Amino acid sequence: MATINPFASAMQQLKKAAAVAKLNPQLIESLQKPQRILEAALTITMDDGSTKTFSAFRVQYNDARGPFKGGIRYYPKVDLNEVKALAFWMTMKTGVVGIPMGGGKGGIVVDVKKLSAAEIERLSRAWVRAFAKYLGPRTDVPAPDVYTTPQIMGWMVDEYSRITGSWEPAVFTGKPLAIGGSLGRTEATGFGGAMVFEELAKKLKLKKGATIAVQGFGNVGYYIAEKLHDMGYKIIALSDSKGGILDIRGKGMDPRNVLHSKKEKGVIDGCYCLGSVCDCENYKQISNEQLLQLKVDVLIPAALENVITGKNVGKIKAKAIVEMANGPLTPEADEKLFRRKIPVVPDILANAGGVTVSYFEWAQNLGGAYWTKDEVFKKLREVMTTSFDDVWAAAEKHKTDLRTGAYVVALKRVEEAMQARGLVK
Ligand code: NAD
Repeated sequence: MATINPFASAMQQLKKAAAVAKLNPQLIESLQKPQRILEAALTITMDDGSTKTFSAFRVQYNDARGPFKGGIRYYPKVDLNEVKALAFWMTMKTGVVGIPMGGGKGGIVVDVKKLSAAEIERLSRAWVRAFAKYLGPRTDVPAPDVYTTPQIMGWMVDEYSRITGSWEPAVFTGKPLAIGGSLGRTEATGFGGAMVFEELAKKLKLKKGATIAVQGFGNVGYYIAEKLHDMGYKIIALSDSKGGILDIRGKGMDPRNVLHSKKEKGVIDGCYCLGSVCDCENYKQISNEQLLQLKVDVLIPAALENVITGKNVGKIKAKAIVEMANGPLTPEADEKLFRRKIPVVPDILANAGGVTVSYFEWAQNLGGAYWTKDEVFKKLREVMTTSFDDVWAAAEKHKTDLRTGAYVVALKRVEEAMQARGLVK
């Protein structure tokens, strides 16, 4: 898995879209490099009085359509190639859903589990000091990503506001509600995915009661599973990093019950429990690899990148895939699924509910007026359903897969903005 270079995959996808839709070569050339790469060494004082230095990044990929937008990842294995790929995908994601922002991504090479809360705070403030000159509500608006939280965004807004001397909540999104976070941001990615799922279900004529397997039981996996269950679909398998549960009879599980017993037992085991009453006969424990190979109507990878590759794609039996994680399929797997006529709703569309509500948060901060949760979800639905239709139409027009269709939609929007600004001819 580690040998797959995500930036190379991203550029492969870009070139494929360019060829399929005969896109402007100047645009494609300009999108093969980020506009700016920022790197810093962050030295902080640890709780024991010693100092430690961490590598940090911010990649500002493209801001033709608006300020750079994208999360900051705290992860031991984060590297520049990964951050560049994620920043490029953010450019495509904001383009595909048509929100007026560009793409960026950041990171720190760190294992947060080994740091105290005070050390994480000092590190987060150091990240802001290193890059503050290049951030701003109209310049670059970061957000949380893997292992970064609303609390971290709170510290970052505070640090940035101290540096500039004015209160600037719109410079980061994903903040706590108390300082301008948006209602609905927590559920936004999962719920947005469920809205896209509904559109796909209409196209594929999937009935309520269709079966679904979800890999990943974090923020994204949980909320999409909860929403789809409430809509009447059958969640027959769920997993986290340690393994998952399969409903052998295919009746469907309420993810709330699985979450409840995961909290009690610490793991998702092979028993489905309603309070203290558990059924271990009609359910069984499965591995993540088994989950991916289940015969279900729709498979939803919502955990990690590169889980469906050239090696295991032949064993996929789902009728459709909705990518909720970033980059769960390699280009080779993508190609093979397209040939088998298995539709794949790409990450840049399926999981764009998160960045869309981040944009809503930014707009609320700048406008100084706040929306109810219902308003947020109503606006989110409009964005997600329109974007799905745009992508479906582009894929049909160019006789290609949905990912390439999504790239074409996004790239045309970036091109229009770059042309309007005189950046490409
Ligand atoms: P999270 O940390 O809340 O949850 C991740 C889940 O994946 C956990 O349940 C974890 O147990 C599981 N997991 C980890 N390793 C696994 C493995 N080897 N096999 C199976 N499961 C494993 O993260 P999240 O916010 O839910 O993000 C999940 C994915 O969605 C990531 O790819 C992320 O980049 C993407 N994403 C998240 C958002 C968002 O708003 N949170 C937005 C867009 C994309």
